Amino acid sequence: MAGAFVGCQPLRPAVPGPARTVDDAINAARSVAAMACAECVAIPVVAVPIPGDLAVAFVNESEQAAIAIHYDGEWMDTVLRRYGYAAAVGVFGHEFGHVLALGGSELEADRWAGCTLATLGLDAYPFSALLLAFTGLDAEARVDAVAAGVGECASR
Ligand SMILES: [Zn+2]
Repeated sequence: MAGAFVGCQPLRPAVPGPARTVDDAINAARSVAAMACAECVAIPVVAVPIPGDLAVAFVNESEQAAIAIHYDGEWMDTVLRRYGYAAAVGVFGHEFGHVLALGGSELEADRWAGCTLATLGLDAYPFSALLLAFTGLDAEARVDAVAAGVGECASR
């Protein structure tokens, strides 16, 4: 089989793209939420220290309105560094899931996180790994909810 490799190209070093930031993750998750909720485009997402809570969506159920998403900036930097961009998008996909459901359950929010990742063509595994590391006993149900969201939105 001499000559079988004649068409191979020499390996070239990968050119790294610009590093993606927490703000990029917010904007990506927002863009998917905006497909379901035009008002979501205007919802403020701000970094504030939130001891114990890491990321939170605030909604006013009586006024049927989402108010803001707050997150711990230091924790998000850690997520980005240790789990990568897709995991950061998953976190904000989850929070926008709460916004869309005006609260909703953790599983509903995780389903939307999966849908967000699938819609953007991102791997859901890093976000699932994050859930397994941070959410204790109910982590497997949450990972299943992410997978269900991926399944619902993978083809759109
Ligand atoms: Zn949640």
